Amino acid sequence: MVKTVVEDVRFEEAGQQVVVSVRAVARDQCRCGLCGRRCPRYDRGRGVRRRWRSLDLSTAVTWLEAEVIRVECRDHGVVVARVPWARHGARHTRAFDDQVAWLAVKTSKSAVCELMRIQWLTVGAIITRVVADIDAVTDRLEGLARIGIDEISYRRGQKFLVVVVDHDTGRLVWAAPGRSEATVQAFFDALGPDRCADITHVSADGASYIANAVTKNCPDAVQGVDPFHVVKWANKALTEVRAQAWREARAAAATEQKQAHGRPRKDAVVPDRSASERTRLMKITRYALWKNPENLTDKQKTQLEWIQANDPTLYRAWQLKENLRLIFKLPATHAATALDQWINTARRCRIPAFVKLQRSIDSYKNAILTSISHGLSNGRTESVNTKIRLYTRIAFGYHGPEPLIAIAMLALGGNPPTLPGRP
Ligand SMILES: [Zn+2]
Repeated sequence: MVKTVVEDVRFEEAGQQVVVSVRAVARDQCRCGLCGRRCPRYDRGRGVRRRWRSLDLSTAVTWLEAEVIRVECRDHGVVVARVPWARHGARHTRAFDDQVAWLAVKTSKSAVCELMRIQWLTVGAIITRVVADIDAVTDRLEGLARIGIDEISYRRGQKFLVVVVDHDTGRLVWAAPGRSEATVQAFFDALGPDRCADITHVSADGASYIANAVTKNCPDAVQGVDPFHVVKWANKALTEVRAQAWREARAAAATEQKQAHGRPRKDAVVPDRSASERTRLMKITRYALWKNPENLTDKQKTQLEWIQANDPTLYRAWQLKENLRLIFKLPATHAATALDQWINTARRCRIPAFVKLQRSIDSYKNAILTSISHGLSNGRTESVNTKIRLYTRIAFGYHGPEPLIAIAMLALGGNPPTLPGRP
């Protein structure tokens, strides 16, 4: 440990715990806990020795123990003095924090908690302060030119984050709770007018509150709509069609059952299970519909064939979704024609959800093609978006959005955590 003097080591709890008495080296004993400036000593605090959880020594839980004094800083008043081995206000050592942050990004929720012997809520508090530390010395908003602004839902779609991704580095650069023009404005305020002027391209999901804030702050930037959002809209339309088919199948199954029960017992025949079978199949085919065809298992391929044979409307909807997805894989020069053709087909498909989708795609057509021709559809934003969604599930159970933002920043912000004591 740097700048730390070990005074004593003793065992407690029958050797299961190690307590190491420490103190800061003389030069670092009287520093403000907030700014680190050397200041005059104020008092001995509450006069009790404080403990910090440190990394285990072999199999024993290890604590650092020290007296904590207070100092009088000319900027911060009377504050607890800084200790070299831990972050201000933390009950874990810096090394412990850093290892937890590294594990939180690299392993599963249960692995971090079990290995470090802490609660998931504690992990949240630790990563939040590790990220605050990184934020204090790095400026993530430097050098931005082409950005993607996105809305991510969490807490089962009840709450939202606005996130900003750098298209050129694929890094997450900013995130805040909310989904309003004010939320996006907060990002541009943090960026400042000079750096707003450097923004050349902005892609988003077509939400007007994002577009309004962009127009206001970066009037000269080219605005586009990320194609992956368009594919998401198509998946949503497909969900609607599938839900309708599922409701119809269930209603048919219910009628069938009623008829079967209504029959006198002696005539009881095995009821025609086709409707309930249909319901069952509708349920299991869900994944076959969402997956990209190249990733389908043999079983799912059969399910898709079943849909083709039994529900032409649903199959047609699936084809429309697939064709739309493939347009965005085409070279930019072909995309415009293909998109026009798609809009024409969808306009005449007689599936309400897709007729509606076609209308919004038509109105965003230029913005979508802008993204394609300016190379804003490079998949980086989509990949960050997918990963953040993954973290929203991991971070479920935290009270506020801070730990979720912290873990996303830690993993995707371009400053990956390092293990303590390693270069
Ligand atoms: Zn201070």
